[in-house]
Amino acid sequence: MLNSQTEEIKSKIDIVDVISEYIQLKQAGANFRALCPFHNEKTPSFMVSREKQIWHCFGCGDGGDVFSFVQKIENIEFPEALKILADKAGVKLKKVNPELVSQKTKLFDINKLAAEFFYQALLKSQEGKIARDYLAKRQLTNEILSEFKLGYAPDSWDKLLNILIKKGFKPNDIFLAGLVVKNEKGQLYDRFRQRLIFPIFDQHGNVVGFTGRILDERKENQGGKYVNTPQTLIYNKSLVIYGLDKAKNQIKKENLVVMV
Ligand SMILES: [Zn+2]
Repeated sequence: MLNSQTEEIKSKIDIVDVISEYIQLKQAGANFRALCPFHNEKTPSFMVSREKQIWHCFGCGDGGDVFSFVQKIENIEFPEALKILADKAGVKLKKVNPELVSQKTKLFDINKLAAEFFYQALLKSQEGKIARDYLAKRQLTNEILSEFKLGYAPDSWDKLLNILIKKGFKPNDIFLAGLVVKNEKGQLYDRFRQRLIFPIFDQHGNVVGFTGRILDERKENQGGKYVNTPQTLIYNKSLVIYGLDKAKNQIKKENLVVMV
């Protein structure tokens, strides 16, 4: 089953496009050439074949298919590479044995559901009005809210926690995603409460963390103006640039980036 899915993914994406997202490829006859990202070199010996959908480096001898490239360059295991490439290919992965789902994938799934929960609370909940009013005042359109998946965390100690548990996630995994906090008694409660939520995406569009901005400034002494996801297995704030997932194609096209 897994095998047929990897074949399906491979048939829907082009290795040249995928590798181009990471390094600059130059056409060389029927193939593409680049400086190898896996060893230090001055003349390009890294080759990609569109026809065979493989890569090979004549310098360090490494090579393989699109999955092995993504695994190696992202320094991740196969399940994560599978997920990244399935998303790119628009292939919906069949349910796999949870034991096989890596810890990182679990945290991505938890965050994705949490982002959806916050987003729906922003759009539809009665108490989300304070956030809707604030965003209208800041002139953010519905298109922007949807593109950046802004959200609202309700004023509750366990709403999100309970929803995620109902969806089948273990409390400890929800804790490892940084969405809940443990008190001295070991009880878990929602980290983000009564705040405007900004999900933070990695360059592939996975939700890796959240920032919550306070809306009622009188409560600023309760946890500060902003509350952030702590360092987790999938969130390292010094490795993420906010908005890069949306800007990367244009950056490549223009070969230019302006950071503010
Ligand atoms: Zn090499």
